[in-house]
Amino acid sequence: MKFVGAHVSAAGGADQAVIRAHELEATAFALFTKNQRQWKASDLDKGDIEKFQAACEKYQFSAAQILPHDSYLINLGHPVQEALQKSRDAFIDEMTRCRQLGLTLLNFHPGSHLQQIDEKECLARIAESINIALEKTDGVTAVIENTAGQGSNLGFQFEHLAAIIHQVEDKSRVGVCIDTCHAFAAGYDLRTEEACEQTFEDFARIVGFKYLRGMHLNDAKTLLNSRVDRHHSLGEGNIGKTAFAWIMGDQRFNGIPLILETVNPAIWPDEIAWLKSMDGGDKK
Ligand SMILES: [Zn+2]
Ligand SMILES: [Zn+2]
Repeated sequence: MKFVGAHVSAAGGADQAVIRAHELEATAFALFTKNQRQWKASDLDKGDIEKFQAACEKYQFSAAQILPHDSYLINLGHPVQEALQKSRDAFIDEMTRCRQLGLTLLNFHPGSHLQQIDEKECLARIAESINIALEKTDGVTAVIENTAGQGSNLGFQFEHLAAIIHQVEDKSRVGVCIDTCHAFAAGYDLRTEEACEQTFEDFARIVGFKYLRGMHLNDAKTLLNSRVDRHHSLGEGNIGKTAFAWIMGDQRFNGIPLILETVNPAIWPDEIAWLKSMDGGDKK
């Protein structure tokens, strides 16, 4: 069975995100546990946590169906020590918030070298950042998202994800989230079933499905290999609906949050209903 939903707003409290997901008839959702454009947030209080957990119970969302996303400001591969430290502290705070909410995954963009260090050094810093965070927290898996490769963002090649995982000590608490728009913009074709098979064969060989902990299902406004990240509604962009039907029909994507970050929230209920109708269930 597949868990399908969208990245919903947590305005008014994390429990409101649960209610919004329920209203979409979603079986998964993503949220920010703090304002994604600010470094600091007040600590979660006991009441916020209890309300969130009560809503999850009421609307039947388990931790496996929820993929929190960290702040966009965090750069775990930052070339400058002081800024790197600030990002590491903020990431540990994000991991802690997830743990407090009873969540088990934290999705993040790996990091950027800002043209100041080489790729290999940046990937090593990212892995070290993950090692530090895993050491200082427990119960939450660090889920690295592939990127479109815009600017100096790393993580756009499956080899980058593999190199980071390779250097993480506790492999039971590291995973990946594949964003279809980012993969396409980074040069992984998804426009036909054959292209999907090839792309995910590469993924299986280079990273491995055992590390796949979530997906972002987005069509792309930009072209294959454009290295520009612009999401679109399913079927309205340059990827097309075939990829999403193919994913829904493949059981290797079962049991993980499949999250829309598509551009028109008004049609999320339709997109979710369509994805659910394409669910191939437990057969291939
Ligand atoms: Zn994404
Ligand atoms: Zn994106």
